[in-house]
Amino acid sequence: MTKHAARIAGTAYLAAAAHLALALNVSVNTDSAKAVLVAIQNPSLSMDEALKIARLPGNQGIIREQNRFNVPVTTQSFARALVATAHGDLTSDSTETALYFDALRPHAAQLVALTEQIEADPQGFQRSIEARIEQFTPPDSRLQLRGFVVVGGDGGGYSFGGTDFFLNLSFNDDLIAAKTTTKHEFYHAVQGAFAKERQSGAVVSAHGSRQNCANTSRLFADIYEEGSAMYVEDISTLSQSHSESAMRQLADISGGLEHVHSSVALLELSVTGLDATTAVPFDDVYEVGFYGHGVLYDIGYAMAKAIVNNEGPQGLAALLKSPSYGLILRYIQLPGYGKDKDHPKLGPNTIAAVNQLVSGCK
Ligand SMILES: [Zn+2]
Repeated sequence: MTKHAARIAGTAYLAAAAHLALALNVSVNTDSAKAVLVAIQNPSLSMDEALKIARLPGNQGIIREQNRFNVPVTTQSFARALVATAHGDLTSDSTETALYFDALRPHAAQLVALTEQIEADPQGFQRSIEARIEQFTPPDSRLQLRGFVVVGGDGGGYSFGGTDFFLNLSFNDDLIAAKTTTKHEFYHAVQGAFAKERQSGAVVSAHGSRQNCANTSRLFADIYEEGSAMYVEDISTLSQSHSESAMRQLADISGGLEHVHSSVALLELSVTGLDATTAVPFDDVYEVGFYGHGVLYDIGYAMAKAIVNNEGPQGLAALLKSPSYGLILRYIQLPGYGKDKDHPKLGPNTIAAVNQLVSGCK
């Protein structure tokens, strides 16, 4: 997900199939977003029609994302929320209000128009995104990626570890912020395509101290995935935008990077907590590091940036096929590691945890 995912939101987006260089193929489908936008403006919308819309793959992605954040939205309640908004009824059901269809309604016509505008020129929108992603992907890649444009819920963009990605244009109609979110989620889809190759080097064990190792491996994987996607999204482009959401996102990221020592300290505490005799549960560690301001994104970004500065974009591309700890291992091997503010030194427990994973967790 994008850092500070809530309400970063993408904007009107592409459509149709497009080709990413010769090696990657991406299709972006706007059906889910358009169906919802049309439905909430239809005062005679039936429950059957609403159920059909709720079953579209993009809308199923919204439901899955809500469930991930423990909001128990279902296909049925999604459809009920659509009908309620279309009929102008107020709903007090918290799972239905979490979809924010009421807030969308005043902008629905405008968002439909934007979607159609971009459908008319998908290549124009996608070219810069594709060029950026291609730099950070091995040249011999053959990938099929699917993107779904959606409206509803509060995440700006997300993916689920596979080659599908979702872009939510609910709260934002700024093209630059939208492109940034697209690049981030697109790179997660690329990571998803290589997930098996990374896992082959990961520790997967379910008991005793090896469980701690498995959790540390998972934490390092998340830091790699978010830190590298944040680098690939190219936050520098956000400064060209004057939208409120882009400004907020940029300020949040700049603040985090200025205080990257907090991120280093949180990583050290996280590793220590996961390895304690009575270990801190992984979900608790994850929540503190990746939700809200996403403090652990910052050290991930700093490491990804240092690797690209030393080895070029293909240095980051190589990590798509490395084990979960590959980013940190490569980073601490850089000649400049620990020598200046662009190469912050990691804590001793973090280094020990990497070494333990390198030795197969024995
Ligand atoms: Zn992300």
